[in-house]
Amino acid sequence: MNIAALKTDIAGVPIEEHPQIVQQKSRDFYWYSPVLKRQLETVKADIVASPRTPDEAHLVIGACFKNDVPLTVRGSGTGNYGQAMPLSGGLVLDLSAMNRVIEVKAGTVVAEAGAILADIDKAARPTGQELRLFPSTYHTASVGGFIAGGSGGVGSVRWGGLRDVGNIVSAKMVAMDGSHPTVLTLKGRDLNRVSHAYGTTGIITEVEMPLAPAIAWIDMITAFPTLEAAVRHGETLTAADGLLLKNVAVMDAAVAPYLRRHRPYLPDGSAFVVTIAAAFAADDVAALGEASGGEVTFRSDRVDMAAERLPPAFELSWNHTTLRALRVDPAITYLQVLYPQPDIAGKVMKMAQLLGDEAPTHLEFVRFDGAVGCFGLPLVRYTDEARLDAIVKLHEDNGCPIFNPHRYTLEEGGMKQTDPVQLNFKRRADPKGLLNPGKMIAWDDPDFDYGRPYLFPSLRA
Ligand SMILES: Cc1cc2nc3c(=O)[nH]c(=O)nc-3n(C[C@H](O)[C@H](O)[C@H](O)COP(=O)(O)OP(=O)(O)OC[C@H]3O[C@@H](n4cnc5c(N)ncnc54)[C@H](O)[C@@H]3O)c2cc1C
Repeated sequence: MNIAALKTDIAGVPIEEHPQIVQQKSRDFYWYSPVLKRQLETVKADIVASPRTPDEAHLVIGACFKNDVPLTVRGSGTGNYGQAMPLSGGLVLDLSAMNRVIEVKAGTVVAEAGAILADIDKAARPTGQELRLFPSTYHTASVGGFIAGGSGGVGSVRWGGLRDVGNIVSAKMVAMDGSHPTVLTLKGRDLNRVSHAYGTTGIITEVEMPLAPAIAWIDMITAFPTLEAAVRHGETLTAADGLLLKNVAVMDAAVAPYLRRHRPYLPDGSAFVVTIAAAFAADDVAALGEASGGEVTFRSDRVDMAAERLPPAFELSWNHTTLRALRVDPAITYLQVLYPQPDIAGKVMKMAQLLGDEAPTHLEFVRFDGAVGCFGLPLVRYTDEARLDAIVKLHEDNGCPIFNPHRYTLEEGGMKQTDPVQLNFKRRADPKGLLNPGKMIAWDDPDFDYGRPYLFPSLRA
């Protein structure tokens, strides 16, 4: 790696070498995991470059290829698994200055990869449209980072996951394959080459995302005497084809103390369902809840949100639930669980009984291949790594797969197997293996045994 030559080659592009800023831009929300905090604490790039235009980005990418400098892309750095952390040092490509919303069309929006999701939505709203899906980091995350690192979130109860066919229209990406790198526009199934690849197969510079009609949404909380009743209500809402919903989250009573501003609306000892519903559907959501023994304790259309300084419901959901718990109790961490069909409620209750207060239940309901799906982000009262691994195993032994957020590789965080589409594409798009090294096990060690955790060579010391 020749950083001095690289700097000469990219003269004119804004760079940053101040050690503290480089360190800050080399980190994401990896500290959610005590395991990753220990492993990745010292990870740091050599230099940060912040191109302002596609031409500047191409120049930096080509110069990294020429000078054998590893390149890790950064959108906003809100990823949770050290995804955007440069394990081999080198250059962090900060795309936050490439943030233009290029065009809002009938049905889609075209934006540069560094554009913030909330800004894209703001540009779409005057046309009567809004983004279908966004992570709960809507106000800070970039659209490129969402595609490369995220999986779904608010809106998934209606539209499914981000990688579900149709949820991304196209992506322009740059390969790491020469001093004048190849630019490709990916559509349809080819999007799988870069979506959720952590930037190991290419750098996304521009995307086209589908839009939905803009809706007036209402936040609601319905309290239930038991967790099981709350889970069943979440499932009923998600299955109700006629209800227009944006999010359905279920939380056990033990989560209530962490949602501090909403605490007055969370009766002691009650499990609760946080729903984002179309205003015109709110009465139907309430009626369904009451018919199952629930009580609506909060509706955003009946309080002064600004005066009470209440965050929007999407910032109580997904990994914001974890964030709020961590702020109160830094010893808390979390897991990512799939509770498969059939009998979602039975599986949730089994795990809740096995783990009790060590892992308070937090569920997010989604549409999964046209059916009701349920992900869990249980809070975990962390003791040590061995116990965390035992809790993971307990879920898996009970038919609930874990997408482990305490691992920084694509495979271990996902399906624990090689993604052949991404691996084959990387062979062409990144022949020197310079893109986000260490995140794709299949590239480094094709025969890796998934029975043990992977440690990238640069971290072994
Ligand atoms: C409180 C909290 C709540 C969250 N809620 C959700 C949620 O609801 N749903 C969800 O899916 N995620 C969630 N996340 C994770 C994360 O916020 C999202 O995935 C977000 O979309 C990442 O965007 P970013 O711009 O911060 O990406 P970054 O963290 O900067 O990058 C993420 C990954 O993508 C790569 N990358 C970034 N930009 C590009 C690009 N242009 N081309 C190629 N590769 C690129 C990076 O190298 C990295 O591997 C949450 C995180 C936190 C801390």
